[in-house]
Amino acid sequence: QAKRHDIGGYAMFTATMHESLVSALELRTDLQNAVARNEFYLVYQTIHDTATGKITGVEALIRWKHPKRGIVTPVAFIGTAEEMGLIRSIGRWVLQEACTQMRTWRDRLPGLDLRLSVNTSAEELKDPQFTIELQDILTKTGLDPHTLQIEVTESIFLENPEIVGKTLSSIRALGVRIALDDFGTGYSSLSYLDRYAMDTIKIDRLFVTRMSTEPRTMAIIGTIVALGRVLDLEIVAEGIEDSTQLKALLDVGCGSVQGYLLSHPLDANDMEEFIAQQL
Ligand code: C2E
Ligand code: MG
Ligand code: MG
Ligand code: MG
Repeated sequence: QAKRHDIGGYAMFTATMHESLVSALELRTDLQNAVARNEFYLVYQTIHDTATGKITGVEALIRWKHPKRGIVTPVAFIGTAEEMGLIRSIGRWVLQEACTQMRTWRDRLPGLDLRLSVNTSAEELKDPQFTIELQDILTKTGLDPHTLQIEVTESIFLENPEIVGKTLSSIRALGVRIALDDFGTGYSSLSYLDRYAMDTIKIDRLFVTRMSTEPRTMAIIGTIVALGRVLDLEIVAEGIEDSTQLKALLDVGCGSVQGYLLSHPLDANDMEEFIAQQL
């Protein structure tokens, strides 16, 4: 520590570099182990009808229970999992687990009518095996394909757009829905809507956060909602944290909402209790 002061900035710089290199390497080793030991679990966040407040669906979100670091959020490891080629097996587990959970809820809670949303990465959709595995999971869990929605982001179209487009069509042919997640933060959004059939658009949280202070942002949301009406797309606004935002989204005619105001992501048990309340 004293040496750091002696050589000043240089020592601090290398020390930081060393730390981040070590932790990057550690992350890779730990992630490999996490897959082998299955240290992952899913939390669920509700999606609501804006006008009635009724829960219409849940989104599955992955968490990593790291033996030393505690709970790690997906932004800290999904990218590395993609680079390491681990995302295919993680993604397969997520789909299997979420569909199994949904089937369990359907059996335990008669009258339950919820859609399940599952996030996917480009790496998964580039693999032609994806749809075959998806079909297999649906058959084994006995889940109605119409109740499942696969969430994708615009970034999936950057590489191999043709293969990805084919995968999306084959997923839809199964009766599974496709949602375009984080809409508005990526690249040429409208050209993707033109070329690929979607069922849902999820307006990124960034817009919801900005809309109270920026009249232009509110206008953009209104335009996306109008676009959704014309193209027959469900529009979900993400990241609703206060009732002013909720009211504004209701006024503009945004059909669905998701965010901490309505529910935080909950583990399977807590979510079961939460959704049972509305039955
Ligand atoms: P996403 O799919 O856009 O999910 C929404 C994220 O926003 C979640 O973060 C959620 O916890 C958070 N969120 C929801 N409501 C609010 C709110 O009102 N305020 C704020 N500040 N945040 C809110 P999370 O769970 O950390 O996930 C981050 C991202 O990681 C997800 O963004 C998704 O892109 C990715 N991800 C999560 N699970 C999976 C998975 O199983 N597979 C893949 N490939 N990606 C995943
Ligand atoms: Mg999502
Ligand atoms: Mg999102
Ligand atoms: Mg995201």
